[in-house]
Amino acid sequence: MTQLAPDVLAWLSRAAGWEPETRAFIDGGYRGFARSSRFESIAPRDGSTLAHIEDAGVESVDAAVAAARIAFDDGRWRRMPSRQRAEILRRFAMLVLAHRDEIGLAESLEVGKPISEALAADVGETAEALHWYADALDKVHDEVITSPEHTLLTVTREPLGVVGAIVPWNFSSIIAAWKFAPALATGNSVVLKPSELSSLPALILGRLATEAGIPDGVFNVVPGRGSTVGSALARHPGIDKITFTGSTTVARRIAVDAATSNMKAVSIEAGGKSPQVVFDDVEDWERMVATVAGSIFYNAGQACTAGSRVLVHESVHDRLLEDLVSKATEWMPSDPLATSTKMGAIASREQLDEILAKLEANRSGKIVFGGEQVEPVPGGFYLEPTIIDGVDSRASISREEVFGPVLTVLSFRDDTEALHAANDTEYGLAAGVWTANLSRTHRMLRELRAGIVWANDYNALGIERPFGGVKGTGTGRDKGIQALAQYTSSKTSWIDFRGALSDGMS
Ligand code: NAD
Repeated sequence: MTQLAPDVLAWLSRAAGWEPETRAFIDGGYRGFARSSRFESIAPRDGSTLAHIEDAGVESVDAAVAAARIAFDDGRWRRMPSRQRAEILRRFAMLVLAHRDEIGLAESLEVGKPISEALAADVGETAEALHWYADALDKVHDEVITSPEHTLLTVTREPLGVVGAIVPWNFSSIIAAWKFAPALATGNSVVLKPSELSSLPALILGRLATEAGIPDGVFNVVPGRGSTVGSALARHPGIDKITFTGSTTVARRIAVDAATSNMKAVSIEAGGKSPQVVFDDVEDWERMVATVAGSIFYNAGQACTAGSRVLVHESVHDRLLEDLVSKATEWMPSDPLATSTKMGAIASREQLDEILAKLEANRSGKIVFGGEQVEPVPGGFYLEPTIIDGVDSRASISREEVFGPVLTVLSFRDDTEALHAANDTEYGLAAGVWTANLSRTHRMLRELRAGIVWANDYNALGIERPFGGVKGTGTGRDKGIQALAQYTSSKTSWIDFRGALSDGMS
């Protein structure tokens, strides 16, 4: 038996004494339902069972939406002075940081990501989103529009009501916070539905929201399957808006459910197959190679912005391939609970099987690195970083989202060919260009059909920068000031003072 490192042992001993909450968080407390079913939460690190999560389907959604609606209607949150709301959101952020280890461990254990990433990125950015929207909420002003002298014409922003947030597992707390922080900042009530692969961090957040002073009913968490809780939320007549991040397939269904129920507003952030276009005049070659490799192997490729397609000028193809293969060796998976781990596990057995099936079915190009399942921790779900060279741009491996550490490489002859290949996908989330040529940079950034484009960088993300895509990725935007608009509707008000003016003058 291999000897476990002290840092791994310390986290394991912490996990051994942990009894995670598995019930829905509704109206300020955890609540069980007599007819709940349960599903297993499996740790991808070693395939062990972490918890049995309660799924109370429609019943829990009805209860959460009812609590959220009462809280919205009586104004206990939306009518609170904005300074006070901001103060509570800041306290929520501080509590997230104070519970860093509990949330980080839950993230790492449930989806197999490196503990160091879970603590720094997942916990840190969740708190950052709360802080940022607490600071932003009184910086956005309503409008007064020019109108005849005896009138006042205003356009005010009002909260939508009850917001249903449906989120994926890959950055479960961060993505949830990108939604609930601006939704709460603008005075809405929220019902959060985490992915069935990552329920535990969200259930902790429910408790912390209440501890921070968010009034009961304003922030609710309903764990469960997509087919039960998720679809009940999307179809619920008491929900005013669904904000969704996940796959394009589920996004389509949610859009239909929303339209055929109460025509609730929907914003969608779905999949990606993002290109990184490397020209022959890259200034900082080493940084480019490290960034390109990091953008696909980070989080084991389970990132919506993963730069999963490299398009490289034919003159530098061989050099890039050699350097990427050498970089890939630094990303071999290891124990997610070891502090030094860069790449952890694939989030579930099913996800790993799906990636392996895609590799198995692929007839295009040649695997030049990786491609094999490995077990740095016995029983766990791990895949080597994988590079496939010489793929055909029409092959499904080049077009479909793999959502794993799989990079395809394709060469091009000129700018037009590069641009065509980069845009030749149903998705439009992100894209990167590497070149020292300013006019080429400008042209590429303008012509790339994606919501986020980088030149000589990739995955440079910050809470102030709007995040979302076009085409099959959807049109929703998380983050930045823009996100506040996604949780409000505008009201045009017209006051005619003619009577009042003549009264005053008489
Ligand atoms: P998924 O679409 O399978 O699930 C997302 C959420 O939807 C989960 O909470 C799930 O339970 C729920 N769901 C499933 N079926 C549902 C239904 N019928 N009705 C309502 N809800 C339902 O996605 P996933 O596997 O959790 O996450 C991976 C996907 O998310 C990838 O495609 C990735 O690109 C995408 N993603 C996109 C972004 C972005 O910002 N664009 C960010 C992260 C992840």
